[in-house]
Amino acid sequence: MSDTLTDRPLATTQEPAFVRVHGLTKHFHVGRGGLFGGGQKTVRAVDGVCFAIGKGETLALVGESGCGKTTVGRLVLRLIEPTDGTVAIDNCDIGALDDEAMRAFRRRIQIVIQDPFGSLNPRMVVGSIILEPLDVHGVGTPAERRARLAELLDLVGLPRDFAGRFPHELSGGQRQRVGIARALALETDFLVCDEAVSALDVSVQAQIVNLLQSIKKKRRLTYLFISHDLAIVRHVSDRIAVMYLGQIVEIAPKKTLFDAPAHPYTQALLEAVPRARAGERPVAAIAGDVPSPVAPPPGCRFHTRCPHVMDICRQQDPAARDLGGGHYAACHLLADKPVVDQRMPE
Ligand code: SF4
Repeated sequence: MSDTLTDRPLATTQEPAFVRVHGLTKHFHVGRGGLFGGGQKTVRAVDGVCFAIGKGETLALVGESGCGKTTVGRLVLRLIEPTDGTVAIDNCDIGALDDEAMRAFRRRIQIVIQDPFGSLNPRMVVGSIILEPLDVHGVGTPAERRARLAELLDLVGLPRDFAGRFPHELSGGQRQRVGIARALALETDFLVCDEAVSALDVSVQAQIVNLLQSIKKKRRLTYLFISHDLAIVRHVSDRIAVMYLGQIVEIAPKKTLFDAPAHPYTQALLEAVPRARAGERPVAAIAGDVPSPVAPPPGCRFHTRCPHVMDICRQQDPAARDLGGGHYAACHLLADKPVVDQRMPE
């Protein structure tokens, strides 16, 4: 990791980074290798991702499904091991922690996923589900746990008598509130929300998004908010990073990204937003399918779908360019802007 970037002010927080991701890479080997391994393929799910998140900031990670954003979320929490790269949280390189130290660190980093029903044990009541992390880490006396449960139910806006209910007795929004309460049961200060509201009705989405916002303020949490839905991202984020085929292609403060998107892929995603809200396919504005991450196109990975493609795009991977004000994008159309010293600055 470059020490010279340690104190780089972030676009919106003007604080040193709380989460710092550098060169994060994950390649999965799939298929059966023949006698000489010829049948095995490498899926380049994430390739050299860099970003930073300030304390109390929300960075949204957006892109079409299959672009690698969920893999980034799991790598950042070390739920899977990277092929390369580092993740530092509050100045701790979590990849360097041994099992015991990592287990202790997990009290501070949690995830809220899309399908709370799938992650809630149907045989456990809500109270036991929420307090499970305290059990796992052996935290608190019985009286302290009861008090903590009441506090968490209040925090997520669930009546206290819900502690005795089973997941199947709850609505989708209520189940997601349980998932959030469980994620906050310990000393969480960094939360990855992975499509946390995508499965909910639009009216319930707004309630859960508002809940996440108010909890963030109350507890000064830091969020990595992963979503394919730019309309939601517009509501929750401070900055936005756009991913395409395993790489970040643009990163900017929210207002800059919506007002002046620089990368053709971001522009196409934004064009698709009104159509998605109207119930049409959200990727309708982008021609063609996402290429396979097994064999990403050479040069700019977006060149097979880009309306502005040039010869150079098929040959050279574009460098990240500094557009000012914390706005960076990697595209040959921006050749008059200064190059930054890595694929995307932290
Ligand atoms: Fe399009 Fe070329 Fe820019 Fe890639 S580098 S987004 S192909 S113009």
